[in-house]
Amino acid sequence: MRNIKVSLGNRSYDIRIGRGLLDQTGQLLMELGFGNRLVIITDSRVKELHAESLRHNLACQQFQVDIFDLPEGEEQKSLDNAAKLFGELAGIFTERSTPILALGGGVIGDLTGFVAATYMRGVPLIQIPTTLLAQVDSSIGGKVAVNHRQLKNMIGAFYQPSLVIVDITVLKTLHHNEIVNGLAEVIKSAVIRDKKFFGYLEAHTEWIRSLDEVVLEEIIYNTARIKTSVIEQDERDLGLRNILNFGHTVGHAIEAASDFTIRHGQAVAIGMVVASRISNSMGLFRDQELARLLSLLKKLDLPTNLPVLPTEDILAAMEHDKKILAGKVRFILPKTIGEVFITEDVDYVLLRNVLEATT
Ligand code: NAD
Repeated sequence: MRNIKVSLGNRSYDIRIGRGLLDQTGQLLMELGFGNRLVIITDSRVKELHAESLRHNLACQQFQVDIFDLPEGEEQKSLDNAAKLFGELAGIFTERSTPILALGGGVIGDLTGFVAATYMRGVPLIQIPTTLLAQVDSSIGGKVAVNHRQLKNMIGAFYQPSLVIVDITVLKTLHHNEIVNGLAEVIKSAVIRDKKFFGYLEAHTEWIRSLDEVVLEEIIYNTARIKTSVIEQDERDLGLRNILNFGHTVGHAIEAASDFTIRHGQAVAIGMVVASRISNSMGLFRDQELARLLSLLKKLDLPTNLPVLPTEDILAAMEHDKKILAGKVRFILPKTIGEVFITEDVDYVLLRNVLEATT
């Protein structure tokens, strides 16, 4: 088992990463001093695949377990569902010390985190992410939220979990598209902070594609380590944490312009290409590095060109984000593989040219 300590003063916690860790959940909770009562929140697919066996395993260790499940999908991340869960928790008389386990992808992690942050002014939260994206990204860092009126993550909080349990074995049941979705965030992390890790990814594409558990453990560990080092310096997203948005400025606009038919990871991959091309045109990110990024994305089934979407629609979606961000469009641009910088000064004509050249 690998361990990462997230050092945030009295909100510090561990991320445990390993194979078969789901079976050790009871032991890990006891080590933290929790009692024998707990609640699992999950979605219907993960319930069938993993939650029932987890419940059985915990019940054998004398834990009293309640499971609440929701259908799958982003639209479940709503205030209505949060209210429904508050009612269910109150209905079984959970106490303030009863931990809530978020077992699922980022949707379950964000919604459950929001419920844990607000129910009784905060109850212990354990993140047990089951998608690659959730294991390397959404379960770490304490951003919890629900969507509101088409606006993503509008209502939320910073609420750190007490523990993150990453069991690599659960990825075996994940659809290939979901693996690819998470790989965009893995590549992003390497580009923003770690050239050596980028080299590791280049050298192990075949192992990654075949879900080799040793290699998966290594890439999850490194991506989680990179995110941890960023959030330790900027827990509340006031500066440095912005670099985690490499590829997301254009990525979000592509998702919105496609009416969310393009998956987040695919959109981020194209967004990374656009940001890298902008930097390249500014004389920073060199041709060979751009070529390496394109090659790695392709080898891991991520797109490198814009889909058939009018450039105007993408620019309009960015205008919308700009209003929300007090009139500024913030780009994270790579200087080199392993180092990025934040800028609000990308020339509009250059942006348009790069978008058109990326189709
Ligand atoms: P998701 O939670 O919708 O999961 C994707 C699909 O995978 C679902 O159908 C789910 O049932 C299924 N699934 C989950 N685990 C499985 C497993 N082990 N085997 C088989 N199927 C499994 O999507 P996601 O990509 O994990 O998360 C996306 C969400 O994460 C978005 O709402 C996004 O806003 C959020 N997010 C949050 C943060 C953060 O910092 N809080 C960061 C990035 C993304």
